[in-house]
Amino acid sequence: MSTARVRMAPSPTGYFHVGSARTALFNWLFARQRGGTFVLRIEDTDALRNRAEHTEGIERAMQWLGLDWDEGPYFQSERGALYEAAIEQLLDQDLVYACDCTPDLVAQRNKAVGRPPGYDGFCRDRHLGPGPGRLLRFRTPATGTTSWKDIIRGEVVYENASIEDFSVRKSNGQPLFILANVVDDGDMAITHVVRGEDHVPNTPKHLLLWEALGLGPPPVFAHLPLLVNESRQKLSKRRDKVALEDYRDEGYLPEAMVNYLALLGWSPGGDREVLSRQEMIDEFRLEDVKSSPAFFDQQKLSSVNAAYLRSLSPGELAERAGQWLNTRWAPLAPLVQERARTLAEIYGMVDFLYLPDVKIDQADWVKVRRQQPAFAALLEAAEAGFAGCEWDATGIRDATLAAGATVGVSALGKAQAPVRLAVTGRTVGPPLFESLALLGRRRTIVRLAAARDRAVREDQAQGPQGR
Ligand code: GLU
Repeated sequence: MSTARVRMAPSPTGYFHVGSARTALFNWLFARQRGGTFVLRIEDTDALRNRAEHTEGIERAMQWLGLDWDEGPYFQSERGALYEAAIEQLLDQDLVYACDCTPDLVAQRNKAVGRPPGYDGFCRDRHLGPGPGRLLRFRTPATGTTSWKDIIRGEVVYENASIEDFSVRKSNGQPLFILANVVDDGDMAITHVVRGEDHVPNTPKHLLLWEALGLGPPPVFAHLPLLVNESRQKLSKRRDKVALEDYRDEGYLPEAMVNYLALLGWSPGGDREVLSRQEMIDEFRLEDVKSSPAFFDQQKLSSVNAAYLRSLSPGELAERAGQWLNTRWAPLAPLVQERARTLAEIYGMVDFLYLPDVKIDQADWVKVRRQQPAFAALLEAAEAGFAGCEWDATGIRDATLAAGATVGVSALGKAQAPVRLAVTGRTVGPPLFESLALLGRRRTIVRLAAARDRAVREDQAQGPQGR
């Protein structure tokens, strides 16, 4: 078989989307069954902030799933010279031109003029020449079509006239996603691009650039079906649980996760659902992946996970559960050590890390609510602050102080009491900011929001005070 070279090319976003995990898995299965090469490339031209933290998250998530890569990680942020050279090449051939229209300007203009005959709503060359504030656009052909035979979707054809003159370099000189993506696929000799359906509209641009840069025969494309929730809506980070890390932290087994992800758009046939990794490698076929949206069914995932748990021997199960418990709370061990008198006491101090939802002590709830009349407002300010602060003990502490200040509370102890209650369910426990750092940003914010909702509901039920 020809040597396949595939890649996983995530952009660092701060968490690993289950859709990315499915893409990584399908690439990995394809590479492994062909003795091919699986490349990891981090597309970080845009996201220099927190780069190390985000990239480590990607690597850890892939390692957790056991998806080992053969090359990389390559970082686009370190490959700028290659993109510059490609842009020079396009400039030499007069295939790109300078333009001063931002996407906003184009949208405004389209709104103002509508679509009179002969105007396609796209920016075209106004022969401005280079200048400050000008980006570079690729001149797409006015006639003809661009097409490819997608392994999953069959023949896909775009009229060239329907493709905008897309930009390849921002006015600040930064290469855009499409350019870096194509240059790297060429440089890394990628033979098959296996990625999410949301990239279908990028593919004609990919092919036009590929040809313009003289990169030879283009890769074969396979666009994986969209993942949807039970309402057939595209998974959304706000509505659905999409971070792979959350499933890991809640105690799903990586082998169950891999098994379930393999079923998102593919099936081994019959009603088989539980497959070993080797069976997946042997039986998986990209050609058999369906193009219709795949339902990411959390209940089915749970039942697959349960099947894996049941297949362990009691000894193995105890060991896996113990490992999971230990890794969750181990970073708090030095802090808990100062406070606990018996091993059993430790459990009550760290259970907030394991429980999917926090259990709030009723007496503590009443006490803290009474002490802090601005409870809901303080939590709301903390949610906003926590969304953007550095996620370490100092960053969280500063954000808590700032949240307190918004409701006129300056003492740290008073500012943190509602936060502690909302997140750990109690008024006492291990040092709060270290605990939250460990629990994670997303889960912390979800718990704050839940406690705030509860407080608001209670206040509404009681009506304005004094009546
Ligand atoms: N960096 C792109 C993303 O995160 C992936 C591009 C690709 O796979 O071609 O969606």
